[in-house]
Amino acid sequence: MTGLCAAAALAKNFEKVTVLERDALPGPVPRRGVPQSHHTHALLHRGQQIMAQLFPGAFDALLADGASVSDFGQKFRWHHHGTWRVRGRLGIDNWMVSRPLLESRLRDSLAARGNVELRFDCPVEAPIHERGELGGGVWGGVRRGRVQGVRLRDGTVLEADLVVDALGRGSSSSKWLAAWGYGEVEEQRVEIGMTYVSGLFDLHGGHYPDGVMIYPQAPNNHRGGIGLRVEGGRMMVTLFGYHGDRAPLDLAGFVQWAKTLAEPQLHALLSRSSLIGELRQHTMPYQLRRNYAGMQRLPAGYLVMGDALCSFDPSFGQGMTTAAMQAELLSQLRPGQRTARMQRRIARVTDVPWQMTSTEAFCWPESHQEVSLGAALMHRYLNRVVALSAHDLEVYRTLTEVMQFVSPASRLFRPRVLWPVLFGRRERAPAQQRPTATRELSVAAELSGLRRSGS
Ligand SMILES: Cc1cc2nc3c(=O)[nH]c(=O)nc-3n(C[C@H](O)[C@H](O)[C@H](O)COP(=O)(O)OP(=O)(O)OC[C@H]3O[C@@H](n4cnc5c(N)ncnc54)[C@H](O)[C@@H]3O)c2cc1C
Repeated sequence: MTGLCAAAALAKNFEKVTVLERDALPGPVPRRGVPQSHHTHALLHRGQQIMAQLFPGAFDALLADGASVSDFGQKFRWHHHGTWRVRGRLGIDNWMVSRPLLESRLRDSLAARGNVELRFDCPVEAPIHERGELGGGVWGGVRRGRVQGVRLRDGTVLEADLVVDALGRGSSSSKWLAAWGYGEVEEQRVEIGMTYVSGLFDLHGGHYPDGVMIYPQAPNNHRGGIGLRVEGGRMMVTLFGYHGDRAPLDLAGFVQWAKTLAEPQLHALLSRSSLIGELRQHTMPYQLRRNYAGMQRLPAGYLVMGDALCSFDPSFGQGMTTAAMQAELLSQLRPGQRTARMQRRIARVTDVPWQMTSTEAFCWPESHQEVSLGAALMHRYLNRVVALSAHDLEVYRTLTEVMQFVSPASRLFRPRVLWPVLFGRRERAPAQQRPTATRELSVAAELSGLRRSGS
């Protein structure tokens, strides 16, 4: 996804762009190089806006393929910190599409550009680095080098003015930089011990919201679930757990596990749907950020982006959108311009999502992180904003705009939000309940009410 977005952005100013992909030419199906494509992938509003610019025609093609668009406030149900968010129109659209289909249509749009070549079955061995002359001044005696291209696994060499590492979380850039003499790249890890188990479900025409998100509640309930509608009227459902808690891989156990979430909606949905294919598992022990921007020196002509730079707790749905936001910056880059500055700008895109996800991760005692006073205060403030958005649509709109990167985080501190956070009525979140038969019935009533209201 990062590679596609970066290529689309660079194609504006660079004469020729080549995308090198290890996998064989894939159709709109999950593939080996992106094992997470078996799992729910939410595309946040800002990511979609940027992709629509970068990939002409891709979203029209997606509509023709059966993808759909919904207002987040009307058609998504989001339970967090013990309450559901208020329902109402937010004016923030979200696309209902699977990750493989999205990726496939973006790829088609990119391939139609005259100056872009996509090569599949084409694993990269390593970038080619050339050492420069010994530099003087403060860094006297230090060599400045540049990346001049890449060597493919079959031994072929490709020369380039600019090489972008979009190899994903498994990228070796930090090892390569160390081997080229640039020193160690500092890494930040935040333990989450997360496991996703997901499957695609046929809803048999049942009426359900387009998205259901039930988040765990620290410190006791480690379990959450996400259901997202995808093309063809099907629902991709993920059950996830933090710090070692994981849903079973057999269907009966999976459905039963859904009953232990804070709310029973996903269990109700799963009980009336059938699994297509099999359940898949993905583990992510920690969030990871690599501080390339903080290096004293970087080779010219080289950038690290996307998951290779920073990967977040996936349940926030930020990865594809931050990749698109980073790529958007690249459209300002011209051949021969300095890349170290661009690397710093790219890294800055990860600041807010990293802070959001890390602040949430620190609330688990298992994370063993020392929480700064600033982070603790921010966490309390955000909790309060989330609590208010259970009944205040305007606060909910602001929260959603910030979480979907349509507005800067500073919007959360505008008077319309700050005032009720500081002085508003405080309602205690209901204690976490186990689903009962009566609650199951009320869920069914709520789901059918949603159908009747046409939302
Ligand atoms: C379980 C899970 C759920 C997620 N859910 C969401 C979500 O809801 N919303 C969201 O926005 N994000 C989500 N993400 C994150 C999202 O998948 C990534 O952030 C996004 O794909 C961008 O990653 P990337 O393109 O940088 O890396 P990747 O998607 O990992 O792609 C790396 C690419 O590099 C190729 N490659 C690797 N090595 C080589 C090589 N040597 N030579 C050539 N090619 C190579 C791979 O085949 C692959 O195509 C989720 C992630 C996970 C793990």
